[in-house]
Amino acid sequence: MQPPFDLWLSTTVAADVAATVHTSAEAVAERQQRRLAAVISSAIHKSPLYRHLLKGLGPPGPRLQDMPVMRKAALMHRFDEWCTDPAIRMDALRRFVADPANVGRPFLDRYVVWESSGSSGEPGLFVQDAAAMAVYDALEALRKPDLMPLRHLLDPWELSDRTVFVGAVGGHFASTVSIERLRLLNPLLARRLASVSFLQPIDRLVSDVQDQEPTVIATYPSVAVLLANESIAGCLKISPREIWTGGETLSPSMRRHVEQAFGCRVVNSYGASEFLSLACECGHGSLHLNSDWVILEPVDAHGRAVPAGTAGATTLLTNLANHVQPLIRYDIGDQVTMLAESCACGSPLPVIEVRGRSDDTLHLRGRSSRSIDVLPLALSTVLEEGAGLFDFQLEQQGLGELTLSTAKHGAEATRLLERARGALAAFLHDQGAGDVHIHCCTGRAPHRARSGKVQRVIASASH
Ligand SMILES: [Zn+2]
Repeated sequence: MQPPFDLWLSTTVAADVAATVHTSAEAVAERQQRRLAAVISSAIHKSPLYRHLLKGLGPPGPRLQDMPVMRKAALMHRFDEWCTDPAIRMDALRRFVADPANVGRPFLDRYVVWESSGSSGEPGLFVQDAAAMAVYDALEALRKPDLMPLRHLLDPWELSDRTVFVGAVGGHFASTVSIERLRLLNPLLARRLASVSFLQPIDRLVSDVQDQEPTVIATYPSVAVLLANESIAGCLKISPREIWTGGETLSPSMRRHVEQAFGCRVVNSYGASEFLSLACECGHGSLHLNSDWVILEPVDAHGRAVPAGTAGATTLLTNLANHVQPLIRYDIGDQVTMLAESCACGSPLPVIEVRGRSDDTLHLRGRSSRSIDVLPLALSTVLEEGAGLFDFQLEQQGLGELTLSTAKHGAEATRLLERARGALAAFLHDQGAGDVHIHCCTGRAPHRARSGKVQRVIASASH
């Protein structure tokens, strides 16, 4: 069964996505408002949850700022009422995503499905139809600078790149689902698109990347830094043309390090399970929000809008492409700043800055003489997927000492931490770590960084 893809829809959406960057800020705002009205109308008419929530708001129709702020836990709790297609049921979806053979395959013959990682509690489930996928595809393919392999979906005969994605492979995550869906849609592209798991020991990860001889690498900033270190050490000999990063904060020093190690450009983008392609860097290095298809509202701790140039405590997302599962003023937990100035590149799309997830890579004592690096997102994946532990903090005290804590109390929390300790110990052993003592601690509120964000994996300052 082919994944949802509508050629006519994809072509018309792509034409609009390509044309919009050559229009004005007013033309972008007009598209945004037209699409917002359509999403609100779908929600009111087809989502029992929204029909109930928005009763009494309007006419002529509720304004965005009057609509309630929604959070993942509450929406997942009322999932079946939330979706606009009554055929989408949470229990059937959970069974569907539990089977790895379904990654990239359609749910109910017509929907693309992925899970979010649980960085803010339990994982979320996200359902997209062909219309929403057409928007994400076009934004991915046409709004990044330079040549991008997703463009091959629209032009399958230019297959000069070999792209490798390094990350969590095999789960129902948005990145993996997107890659598997492209493979199923375009077998020619499949041969040029490889995935490498970051859950394997670093030397195997490096040799897998080496085997692919990639011209483009798509990964997280922490992985890009690790590959740069391996390249400088002479253990990885590749010449990528471009490296795309996303999913974590990319600091200027990380970018410089990776660019110098590989002698190529790093292009950063910002995406989320709630909207795949939120923003991408232009040739001038500014991150442009795709505001014709998504609205971001940075707000303070009380939910009040913050002025341009100020970082919010969190950010509300409204997805203008997905009518199946309306995401309206949905709290995504990231800290975004909308900049007032426009970019010298001439794009009418607004420029944003994002403070996303920023966890540390751990340096641990290895069984051989060399110390080993352990990637923070790999650790999170092991704890979430392997042990069902979503609310945690992992702190390093020394080369062989870690503390795993959770804010949860009681016997259930203790059992959960014990299971997590087992999964973590097995993973670290596979990675080549020497003896690592993992202390467990329940009922401990996480330390917060100065930004207010919880850092989940913290290296000790002295290592
Ligand atoms: Zn720009």
